[in-house]
Amino acid sequence: MPGERSRSLYEEALGLFPGGVNSPVRAAVKPYPFYVSRAEGPYIYTVDGERLIDYVLAYGPLFLGHRHPRVLEAVREQLEKGWLYGTPTELEVALAKKILRYYHPGGMVRFVNTGTEATMTAIRLARGYTGRKYIVKFNGCYHGAHDSVLVGAGSAAAEYGVPTSLGVPEEVARLTLVARYNDLESVERIMRQYGDQVAAIIVEPVAGNAGVIPPKPGFLKGLRELADRYGALLIMDEVITGFRLGLGGAQEYYGVRGDLTTLGKIVGGGFPIGVVAGPREIMEKLTPSGRVFNAGTFNAHPVTMAAGLATIEVLETGEPYRVAREAASRLVKALEDLISRYSVKATVNHVENMFQVFFVDGDVSSPEDAARSNRELYARLHEELLRRGVFIAPSQMEAVFTSAAHTREVVDETIEALEEAFKRLGEQ
Ligand SMILES: *Cc1c(COP(=O)(O)O)cnc(C)c1O
Repeated sequence: MPGERSRSLYEEALGLFPGGVNSPVRAAVKPYPFYVSRAEGPYIYTVDGERLIDYVLAYGPLFLGHRHPRVLEAVREQLEKGWLYGTPTELEVALAKKILRYYHPGGMVRFVNTGTEATMTAIRLARGYTGRKYIVKFNGCYHGAHDSVLVGAGSAAAEYGVPTSLGVPEEVARLTLVARYNDLESVERIMRQYGDQVAAIIVEPVAGNAGVIPPKPGFLKGLRELADRYGALLIMDEVITGFRLGLGGAQEYYGVRGDLTTLGKIVGGGFPIGVVAGPREIMEKLTPSGRVFNAGTFNAHPVTMAAGLATIEVLETGEPYRVAREAASRLVKALEDLISRYSVKATVNHVENMFQVFFVDGDVSSPEDAARSNRELYARLHEELLRRGVFIAPSQMEAVFTSAAHTREVVDETIEALEEAFKRLGEQ
């Protein structure tokens, strides 16, 4: 558990940052967040002298694990040459070519700094390109922290969006129509009524911000057809799944293509990044070739470009996918065995190298199902694991990730911790 040094830092932080942190999920680690001194491979080392096996991995970016030597070398090399020029580099050309090869052959890219900026820019671009104002998103899907997408948490049905945050004007939220994930009927209803005014449907191809919820067979294909039928763009928000479900992300994995792709997280190698990618015809509407505005002091930051490029080169060997997949399968199997051994009402959702356990009776095929799960039990599992040196997502609504650094020995140790944690849960 977090120790004294973390506790006193957090107490100080409570006076410096709203809620003591700089991004809300970090405060979900109870009783207080641990502070990190360094990290390497699958491990995080805390200021309290603890070593934790990390299955959070900064909420997605660190698919190679912490401090991967190839990424470190690329970043060091770039730092020696200076780190920000405000003018283009060879690195951005190389990284764009890599991304386009897997996502939009013959297309174009705009580099920004976060997933939030990527979806904000993609939505503006869709509106600018189609001349329409509505967007359709899914209840429980997360696309970052800007106004248009902070809509639709807890909405029970397809309807005009209700803001999820104070400060989002009703007039803005109303332009976001909220459908249900894995429920094509709910999208069709919206499209029948608003279809000719919908600029884009934006979706997480695997819902990864409501635990892990894979798309039902036919769901993504159905979205593709509805977008085409009504002349709307389909934005595949692959900020989590991009380069995670394979080099070509969820679009390759499920065989359904979006008109625009947003990327982030893994593709920056652990440095801040967002990417909008798509066909030339649409992308050229962005400034300066077109009139849909986007700009950024840090866009295509050389250090990020170097880290991203090194990361993709390692991913191209295929080895990281093999290791991460095996780690996840073994952990999921262990969890399922424990769930049946202790007769716990729970289910595990799993896609390749991301999974989540939900303490609920029955399947979880929508964010609404996920919301019914027993979060208190999940919090106890999280706490019991943390006590035993294993860090999983502190919230049920996040994913558990494996990485290229989660070798057999690391997973063996984790399975032991899982067994002890379930034993404790069973006793109480
Ligand atoms: C994390 C995430 C974002 C936002 O990315 P940031 O870099 O945190 O702004 C957008 N979409 C999805 C699917 C995400 O998981």
